Amino acid sequence: DASTRGLSAWADIDLTAISDNVAQLARLAGDADVMAVIKGDAYGHGLVPVAHAALAGGATYLAIAQLSEALAARAAGVTAPVLTWLFPPGADLAAAIRADLTLSAGAPWALAEIAAAAREVGSTARIHIKADTGLGRGGAWAGDLAAMFADATRLEAEGVVDVEGIFSHFACADVPGHPSVRAQQETFVAVLADAERVGLRPGLRHLSNSAATLTNPSARFDMVRPGVSIYGLSPVPDIGGPTHFGLREAMRVTARLINVKASAAGQGISYGHQYTTKGETRLGLVPLGYADGIPRHAGNVGPVLADGRQLTVAGRVCMDQFVLDLGPDSTAVAGDEVVLIGREADGEPTAQDWAAAIDTINYEIVTRLGARVPRRYL
Ligand code: PLP
Repeated sequence: DASTRGLSAWADIDLTAISDNVAQLARLAGDADVMAVIKGDAYGHGLVPVAHAALAGGATYLAIAQLSEALAARAAGVTAPVLTWLFPPGADLAAAIRADLTLSAGAPWALAEIAAAAREVGSTARIHIKADTGLGRGGAWAGDLAAMFADATRLEAEGVVDVEGIFSHFACADVPGHPSVRAQQETFVAVLADAERVGLRPGLRHLSNSAATLTNPSARFDMVRPGVSIYGLSPVPDIGGPTHFGLREAMRVTARLINVKASAAGQGISYGHQYTTKGETRLGLVPLGYADGIPRHAGNVGPVLADGRQLTVAGRVCMDQFVLDLGPDSTAVAGDEVVLIGREADGEPTAQDWAAAIDTINYEIVTRLGARVPRRYL
């Protein structure tokens, strides 16, 4: 393939898979809309192409945590509704309002700064009020919310803000049946009732991340807010992989062997000699390392498909490279392709396999894939 000639490694991003996954999530969500979460450079898949693919699949809203990244999406021509919720006091909220971003008000100071910015711009700020229903992270507790709802009602009457939504986030949706899931859902319903009591009836009430979207139909409200599942990754791998949920992985990471050579038995491999060849063998060098987001903890455990076989990284992952023990009978040559991340359905190593190998989550594997690995959009 001419487009990969001379490349050490690349990540193919299947945008049709992303559109299809969003369409599948929309089907599962029934009457609820889909807000596609594309923060973190779309979990490493590429912010702008993924934005368009998610919208093509039926998402009606986009979610981008950090204000700077949301502004970057706007600058790159993404015009769909975007909710953003991470910004510090003193951020340029006037620019955000001019860019027609929807701002989260998750603390009294945020609501006050949004209102001041809207007055400065001379337009209405569209906001979603963020409740902490038990995650213990962002958003306001019920106590602060009461005052924020009262302020927001007044600001809405003055045309300063438009309270379009109220939202919250689960702590343990990936453990269906965890008592906190039900407790958070009940708290959310109570919060919505508090809002209604002062006359706030926003049309977009949303609570469900991927795990809840896939396992908890009772938490859909007006909109679901899936992230990892739109990339074809399961948030609940113990319950089922992507195939189980009608999803497919969008990212495929391929590298080329750049050195293949014979090795004697008993050869220590890579820094620290954490691996030793058992017999005469052939070694393959893969030009990806922890500078590319390949976890250093994947030494001796990271799965790679090479020469038609599932191997594991031999020895330590270095900054820019790692070694494979290809075995004595390997016919692999320099330039051959190896697959680090492919599809479960094809029996290839997956982001989930890498995550399991180093005791993390598939989210981290794809999100950390470095900028040095060029993305090809299919
Ligand atoms: N909503 C919020 C507020 C988030 O922070 C995230 C990501 O962690 C999501 C939704 C999407 O979660 P997931 O990727 O588990 O679907």
